[in-house]
Amino acid sequence: MSNTYDPVEVTPLHADEVARMEAEAVAAIGAAADLDELKQARLAHAGDRSPIALANREIGALPPQARAEAGKRIGGARKAIGEAVAARQAALAAERDERVLIEETVDVTLPWDRAPRGARHPLTTLQERIADAFVAMGYEVAEGPELEGEWYNFDALNIAPDDPVRSEHDTFFVESADSGMVLRTQTSPVQVRALLSRELPVYVISPGKTFRTDELDATHTPVFHQVEGLAIDEGLTMAHLKGTLDRFAEVMFGEGIGTRFRPHYFPFTEPSAEMDLRCFVCRGASAVPGNPPCRTCKSEGWIEWGGCGMVNPRVLVACGVDPARYSGFAFGMGVERTLMFRHDAEDMRDMVEGDVRFTLPFGMEA
Ligand SMILES: [Zn+2]
Repeated sequence: MSNTYDPVEVTPLHADEVARMEAEAVAAIGAAADLDELKQARLAHAGDRSPIALANREIGALPPQARAEAGKRIGGARKAIGEAVAARQAALAAERDERVLIEETVDVTLPWDRAPRGARHPLTTLQERIADAFVAMGYEVAEGPELEGEWYNFDALNIAPDDPVRSEHDTFFVESADSGMVLRTQTSPVQVRALLSRELPVYVISPGKTFRTDELDATHTPVFHQVEGLAIDEGLTMAHLKGTLDRFAEVMFGEGIGTRFRPHYFPFTEPSAEMDLRCFVCRGASAVPGNPPCRTCKSEGWIEWGGCGMVNPRVLVACGVDPARYSGFAFGMGVERTLMFRHDAEDMRDMVEGDVRFTLPFGMEA
């Protein structure tokens, strides 16, 4: 290489200066940490305003003999810079691709159930289990509206207009007290609807929501569940009622758990009884003097469970059934109360709040 024509007055075209620009450019390009930084380095060291591009413009000012030499020098440096950009570009793109692969990888060994499972509410599954017990005895499941006419909820069930049950302390009236519509206070209106809409004989079981103006506390809730049973046929007696409830008690609480009746009053049955369940913990043993006490039945041997009785002939007449030919029985009990017994659930509020930590342990019992 000859330096003969090197124009010393054009500094940027000196061999040392070109080598310095090239080294600076290659270093900056190599130091680019990502594709954005590489773009900045490329514009600074290989762009139109870069030192090497500006030096290139000086070639035209050289004497013709010197231009080829300077052009070769600048061209070599630009080629080297271009190769450095291409190499860094390839390396950074490969890094990025690898990172994307890692970031977007589906790790099949991670837990699959990070979205927590829900659970059916035990009141729902228990109502189904109760219905199943009666379906097995030949009953059909009947349903009725939760917003009910007063006539179905009270009058047809022989509840007198001045009965305190109707007062606003117990009943949710809709719009106004004279609208004639209430949120049903019991599942018994389903009895009336069943008798009015079905052919006799009728054997229906009806679990569902009921409403009363109670405050929510450990033992009360304004929205609760009842299960109502009704059987109307020729020749039905209280013995059939007792046998049916004893069988139901066994299905719910185990073989040998029977019921007993205590005389009571309900407007829609006559005679009426409150129904007790044989204590399923001590099986009555705690009531015998000298035996260990029982917390569940307070050592009485029995636990109150629901109400029942022979359907009042007035109800049959209101529903167009001939009481001289047909008779029958009805019974009802709280589903929450039954759940409390079966699963030792102690606080009504747990059943209302819908916390999956309460419902999940009940599993999928059908
Ligand atoms: Zn007991």
